[in-house]
Amino acid sequence: MEEKKKEYNKKWRDNHKEYNKKWRENNKEYFKKWYEENKEKKKEYDKKYLQENREKFLEYQKNYRKKEENKEKIKKYYEEKKVEISAYHKRDIITCECGRTLRRDNIQRHLKTDIHEKLISKKPI
Ligand SMILES: [Zn+2]
Repeated sequence: MEEKKKEYNKKWRDNHKEYNKKWRENNKEYFKKWYEENKEKKKEYDKKYLQENREKFLEYQKNYRKKEENKEKIKKYYEEKKVEISAYHKRDIITCECGRTLRRDNIQRHLKTDIHEKLISKKPI
């Protein structure tokens, strides 16, 4: 059974290889021609692509400088929002039964730590 399967796979691979080889051979001329025809087109396309992206890049640099000018504004914004932002981060802080404060999404991991074990065992019941 196994042997037959192996034999079959080998035959299939050989046939396939042969087929691919023939196919490439038959189409060699075609690909060569296609490449020649499209070489110029590709060159043209690459040139255009580079040009367009150069402009995009320059635009990006310009915007970046604008951002530099806005640095103070951005800083001020964060200064004003600081309280809100820290409140946002604090909203998920909980206190574990061992006395440690930690983020809610860390509790499962924390419960398996040595620190938690130690603190719990020291705590009078
Ligand atoms: Zn704990």
